[in-house]
Amino acid sequence: MYDKMRAKLEKVVPDVELRIKAEIAVEINALKAERNAVILGHNYMEPALFYSIPDFVGDSLDLSRKAAQTDKDVIVFCGVRFMAETAKLLNPTKTVLLPSEKAGCSLAASITAQDVRDLKARFPGVPVVTYVNTYADVKAESDICCTSSNAMAVVESLKSDKVIFLPDEYLGGNVAREMGWNIIFPDALTPQPPLPITGEGGNALTPQPPLPITGEGGMMIGWRGRCEVHEKFTVNDIQTVRAQFPDVAVLSHPECSPDVTAASDFSGSTNAMIKFVKESKAPQYLVLTECAMGDNIAAANPEKDMLRLCMVRCPHMNTITMEDTLSALKLNRYVIEVPEDIRVRAARSVQRMIEIG
Ligand code: SF4
Repeated sequence: MYDKMRAKLEKVVPDVELRIKAEIAVEINALKAERNAVILGHNYMEPALFYSIPDFVGDSLDLSRKAAQTDKDVIVFCGVRFMAETAKLLNPTKTVLLPSEKAGCSLAASITAQDVRDLKARFPGVPVVTYVNTYADVKAESDICCTSSNAMAVVESLKSDKVIFLPDEYLGGNVAREMGWNIIFPDALTPQPPLPITGEGGNALTPQPPLPITGEGGMMIGWRGRCEVHEKFTVNDIQTVRAQFPDVAVLSHPECSPDVTAASDFSGSTNAMIKFVKESKAPQYLVLTECAMGDNIAAANPEKDMLRLCMVRCPHMNTITMEDTLSALKLNRYVIEVPEDIRVRAARSVQRMIEIG
């Protein structure tokens, strides 16, 4: 195991760390076989984990598909909670384990199921597209999910000139720009009054008047959720790097602001960025996304010059360690459960997305 990891990670991970991690990896792999488990590793996992224990690595969509297809008894999700929940939605009879209880997500935390119900009441009949970076109860209120790689295809599939797109402000802005649509943010523009309490059978909802929709082309109704990692990149970062490396290829994730994606040479999902680096021949690359993924791409492309702008490690992904993955398998923790009525509706939204591709 050490030799295998060293061949890949020699330039990325210090040798002393590699030796320790290799021992843990051997233990994890033995337990994995004993428990008939599969390990799914997101592209944002730290390099030592990414290149040792997962049976499959990839982005949310890849891993959702693998979770749906597996016949193993246990799915260990090395990612964040909403991803592990998605695995449970699609393969409910399996035990799904998330190695850290703290692996949340700022985007997923930005919106609740009630927020979606309120939006639907304000925009009756407008279909709801929800980014997979949300919790199951939010997915359950949606018509269809999307990832950063298929968001445009999903919106187009609805054949509607109005769409509620949740919860990522920047992904929504990037998709709207690409499609030539307008985007509005009613949540921030019009604060809602508190709900009156009737005393007769609980809270009564005060219906909000529908907002006028005036766009000439399509209209997206967005939400001001953000990824706390990708929102940190700025156009100034790009300009500074370009001043020093004029031929650098700048790649950004669509969770970055529309200004940043417009100033980049390429914007795409994690998988699309990995493919771009693999298949192109720039003198240097700057990948504006989660730091560990930059390391993983560097390890996969040792002959390419990867520049680092690495002040942004996702604090949620960062809680998933090899040590915790070992404990997850040993102690059967932390088990992901989703109430069945929510699971069925949320799975339908994810399944619709998977059918689109
Ligand atoms: S990188 Fe951003 S979107 Fe992904 S889990 Fe972290 S906070 Fe959430």
